[in-house]
Amino acid sequence: MAFSKFGLSPAVLDGVKAMGYVDPTPIQLRAIPLILEGQDVIGSAQTGTGKTAAFALPILTKLERHQPSPRLLVLEPTRELAAQVETAIRDFARFTDLRVAVVFGGVGYGRQMDELKRGLDVLVATPGRLLDHLGRGTCRLDQVQHLVLDEADRMLDMGFLPDVKRIIEKCPRQRQTMLFSATIPPQIETLIQWAMKNPQTVEIGARRTPAETVKHVIYPVADAQKTDLLLALLDRVHYDSVIVFCRTKHGADRVAHLLKRSNHAVAVLHSNRTQSEREHALRGFREGRYEVLVATDIAARGLDIADVSHVINYDVPHHPEDYIHRIGRTGRAAATGDAFTLMVAEDSKHVMAIERFISQKIPRVKLENFDYRYTALFEEDKPGQPRGYSGGARGVRVHGGYHFAPGRRRRR
Ligand code: AMP
Repeated sequence: MAFSKFGLSPAVLDGVKAMGYVDPTPIQLRAIPLILEGQDVIGSAQTGTGKTAAFALPILTKLERHQPSPRLLVLEPTRELAAQVETAIRDFARFTDLRVAVVFGGVGYGRQMDELKRGLDVLVATPGRLLDHLGRGTCRLDQVQHLVLDEADRMLDMGFLPDVKRIIEKCPRQRQTMLFSATIPPQIETLIQWAMKNPQTVEIGARRTPAETVKHVIYPVADAQKTDLLLALLDRVHYDSVIVFCRTKHGADRVAHLLKRSNHAVAVLHSNRTQSEREHALRGFREGRYEVLVATDIAARGLDIADVSHVINYDVPHHPEDYIHRIGRTGRAAATGDAFTLMVAEDSKHVMAIERFISQKIPRVKLENFDYRYTALFEEDKPGQPRGYSGGARGVRVHGGYHFAPGRRRRR
């Protein structure tokens, strides 16, 4: 089925064409008709599935012509995600006369106030800054007809649900509400009951299945050799772009420093950095000036960074959902990618939790020709040994495949 069969407006279809989209993704196929009908929709889907277009295309069609007050409000958990979604909607709307703006914290108010004053149709916002604008009277939500709560589980994790509720209370009751979330924990269920009317659920794949195009590998390693192994991996992998995930801001800074010393072009993304530093890092990574982005979970949540060929988990995430979010950076919208996880002895229980969560055993491999020190992890799963894991591959395999080559890393 092509986009032209949905009944989207010609200007919106031109926008889709200019984006180079040919076939709708599964969530677009299922959500667009429901949203065009005016239904409330719960999209149980991760980023990378095409959910932005799934809600934006039908709503831009419904908005038709420019009017001065926001009629579509999209709430996002992070500034980066807000900026990214605004850019996508602006792209879809480029052949319409609809105006799109974004407000988020960490930057001045001046430009945002000017945009709000000029009048706009679509407002993308993070909850805190939007509440500030509402408090100052620089923005009103009384004309909102369509409300999107994006990455609702992330907003919950970040403690934004009370703010989200206050914002919803300022929107008219008569509206269409859409909620997107990779998981639906009980608090989100309660929000759904309160904020939505007879919602239709569009579930894409099993909620817990990571993108099927991603190859997962675990590299067991002694703690003292973690950084050496990371450097060796980067040296041997034929990558286009890599995100290295760390658990803490401090850890991210340390790893970035180390990689810089080894002549990698590195950008860092974490919440202690200023907004302009974060934007600079993201832009540089997108444009290929940096080949490696070192990031923490909060900073990287939901970011749409195109063509990430590899994700390396320098630290094993403590929440299994973060694993899914991290590897969602690669293998997006059917590109393929690899996800490598460095694992030290203390990580065993977190790795087990991840494997249970994704219902999949992740193969353990050793990097060829790396001067390993012994770690008890290499004995794991050998027949006759105490079993740490159930099912799947046994022992640690030496790894020669995937995108490894004996030579040097590909240079840009
Ligand atoms: P999202 O899940 O909305 O963050 O989208 C993930 C990525 O998929 C973005 O880079 C989109 O531009 C891209 N995308 C969305 N829909 C399509 C489509 N129908 N065909 C190709 N790419 C798409």
